Amino acid sequence: MKEVIPVRRKHRKRIRLARFVVLLLFILIISGTIVAFGDNFSNREGSAISPRTVGSENTQSSIGPEPSPSSDQTVTPSHNKIFYNGTSEGKKVALTFDDGPDTIATPKILDILKENGIKATFFIVGTQAEAHPDMVRRIEEEGHAIGNHSWSHPHFDKMTKEEALQQIDDVQEQLKSIIGYSPSMVRPPYGALTKDEEKAIHEKGLDIVNWSVDTMDWSGASAKKIMELVHEELYPGGIILQHCFGGKDHLSNTIEALEQMIPELQEQGYTFVSVPELLGIPDKL
Ligand SMILES: [Zn+2]
Repeated sequence: MKEVIPVRRKHRKRIRLARFVVLLLFILIISGTIVAFGDNFSNREGSAISPRTVGSENTQSSIGPEPSPSSDQTVTPSHNKIFYNGTSEGKKVALTFDDGPDTIATPKILDILKENGIKATFFIVGTQAEAHPDMVRRIEEEGHAIGNHSWSHPHFDKMTKEEALQQIDDVQEQLKSIIGYSPSMVRPPYGALTKDEEKAIHEKGLDIVNWSVDTMDWSGASAKKIMELVHEELYPGGIILQHCFGGKDHLSNTIEALEQMIPELQEQGYTFVSVPELLGIPDKL
């Protein structure tokens, strides 16, 4: 008997150990499932307000960080996606200038574009157009494309769909009264909007256009830094984000960089086109 008891004890110990292992495995499996589910859930959340649609778009009232949207989306000209770039065909690039117009940086940018015979795209903010309608007319008269960049540059993803649509509608009407037409393109401030807003904007027949290269000019990045970002991030079909109002020192960095960017990219074989030309979409609604 003396020998039997230790054997039973050993056996019980083994059973306990086995139970412990099974329990441990069970916990691991359950926690793994929760983590996996959590990941799926976050991804779905992410697609509701896509990280790609969140950008560092500058504003006169708030300057925020602007992570560049990824540019790996395929291009299909239709109202069911957000544009970040065009096709690589023809080695084209589109310059875009947001948040204006003003009467300091905007005319300087227009002068440089005119000297170089380049057509760019200006995403207009309603409050700025209200203050400087003549500058909106100059942009249009000089053959540049115009897009809607909201009335007062709010975060669309932090407001109701109705409020966001009102911001867009007000600028559509305003631009029609200044230049005779409403644009076909919308760039949400900061590149941020909800899925519902995205759908509603598309239902209005408007294209949503973000960017593939963020120059960070609004943050006061030097012309050298801006050029480094362009060298790193630009590929054929790219859309470059710059500003024509706000920033530090009235965007003297943007202007200095532009004077380098145009000849450099032309030397690399790039052709500058407007966003509607790059994407093959209409410029008017
Ligand atoms: Zn902006």
